[in-house]
Amino acid sequence: MIAPANRASTSADYDVITIGAGIGGLVTATQLASKGAKVLVLESYLIPGGSAGYFDRSGYRFDVGASMIFGFGDKGTTNLLTRALEAVNVQLETIPDLVQIHYHLPNDLEVKVHRDYKDFIEELSAKFPHERQGIQKFYDECWKVFNCLNAMELLSLEEPGYLARVFFQHPLACLGLVKYLPQNVGDIARRYIKDPELLKFIDIECYCWSVVPADLTPAINAGMVFSDRHYGGINYPKGGVGQIAQKLVEGLEKAGGEIRYEARVTDIELEGNRAVGVKLASGEVLRAQRIVSNATRWDTFEKLLPKSAMPLSEEKWQQRYRKSPSFLSLHVGVEASVLPAGTECHHIIVESWDDMQEAEGTLFVSIPTLLDRDLAPEGYHIIHAFTPDWIDRWQDLPSKEYEQRKEAAAWKIIDRLERIFPGLDAGLDYLEVGTPRTHRRFLNRSDGTYGPIPQRQLKGLLGMPFNRTAIPGLYCVGDSTFPGQGLNAVAFSGFACAHRIAVDLGL
Ligand SMILES: Cc1cc2nc3c(=O)[nH]c(=O)nc-3n(C[C@H](O)[C@H](O)[C@H](O)COP(=O)(O)OP(=O)(O)OC[C@H]3O[C@@H](n4cnc5c(N)ncnc54)[C@H](O)[C@@H]3O)c2cc1C
Repeated sequence: MIAPANRASTSADYDVITIGAGIGGLVTATQLASKGAKVLVLESYLIPGGSAGYFDRSGYRFDVGASMIFGFGDKGTTNLLTRALEAVNVQLETIPDLVQIHYHLPNDLEVKVHRDYKDFIEELSAKFPHERQGIQKFYDECWKVFNCLNAMELLSLEEPGYLARVFFQHPLACLGLVKYLPQNVGDIARRYIKDPELLKFIDIECYCWSVVPADLTPAINAGMVFSDRHYGGINYPKGGVGQIAQKLVEGLEKAGGEIRYEARVTDIELEGNRAVGVKLASGEVLRAQRIVSNATRWDTFEKLLPKSAMPLSEEKWQQRYRKSPSFLSLHVGVEASVLPAGTECHHIIVESWDDMQEAEGTLFVSIPTLLDRDLAPEGYHIIHAFTPDWIDRWQDLPSKEYEQRKEAAAWKIIDRLERIFPGLDAGLDYLEVGTPRTHRRFLNRSDGTYGPIPQRQLKGLLGMPFNRTAIPGLYCVGDSTFPGQGLNAVAFSGFACAHRIAVDLGL
């Protein structure tokens, strides 16, 4: 525990309490524990990971959400998952994925995003030969963003000492980032590309992780995603995505931190306007110097704090950002013979560009057993198929109607999958359906949302808040803070949050 001089009050049980053991919360906690802080993580569910968790059924180990994992590279500074694990002396074996996505798009447009950059540019240019130069220039510009990020240690942009140091060490990279911070991908794409169908392709390249088209997707995030897939690459953790959180917890405990499961926080305790502790559903109250919320901003400010404590800055944030849809998810076990030789791990299916952003429009497919056979019984594969969907379509249904609607929605998705995997229906061994209600309940996220999306076109990432909040002593971490959704992005948020708190506590 740190010296009393740096504490707000002497009666704290911990230096830092983190509400939630998602990847954002765990990276914050492990970073702080490794710096000597006394840390407690409170997780309402039975296991850590949140949207990067897992569940076991009938011999299958399913990822609940994420399975296309960035941040496990072995070079540069943007490999934040590798770095987060190393910081607490734990390791995780990963399996390289040689194709990030196999796109199945309208007008029979099929594109594979190869790990090798030249192969990808060649494949896309062969589909749009008249745009060869534009394609090269657009993706090369994304590399410029990435190279700026990848030149510097990624910590808190709210810490003036760090900003001064990093500017002194990497002035050109910093100026580059300042230039791209207010830009969106659409502006850059239209500078180089004219073909409307290719611009649609850039839209789905953004939509598949930002859930908004290129015009609303910040250039900084795109620089990371469009380049790191060829640099550090996409790598799948051996044993399933749930291993990342399990390993971070192992590291947290090794570093002296604590975690409690089935520990749902119902309130953030305030003294005056300062956050000083948390209250659990059991009634227990725990105090800490600093409170970190890994719940979404909506859950944090609308559920864990009294209405009267809602800061004006949060009201303004809610005017800029809204909740993205949740997902309708199918977790499927199938006979291995259903998948043709050469099938890739990740697929995106869009039948009509008009439906790309609609509920049940874009279909995401992950088959992690193509990388790690041990996640399914011998002779079988896992298919996780999911598509954006809104909670409103599933709320307030009587249970019989809810079940019927789930079944109908599942067969619609299976019919779509049959087009690329004929025989899927006959080869089905296991099927479980999750709706936005399931995501809300098990992931503990308001309306089951995937995260914040801009209400309208904003200036790139400029409107995303960092980790400090208007409530002294309270910080937010995870996908509703800078730089947004995705495991590597929330790891970035975790590094930044821990850095800011470490400075505030004098660690
Ligand atoms: C279907 C799906 C597919 C995805 N695919 C990918 C992908 O391929 N690649 C990728 O990088 N990203 C992907 N993502 C996004 C990625 O998983 C998330 O952005 C990221 O995991 C969010 O992490 P987080 O730390 O912000 O929060 P979360 O994962 O939401 O974790 C928050 C944790 O806090 C806990 N909690 C909340 N409130 C309380 C409370 N009151 N008391 C105690 N505990 C609480 C929750 O139980 C949860 O464990 C996907 C997400 C989904 C849903």
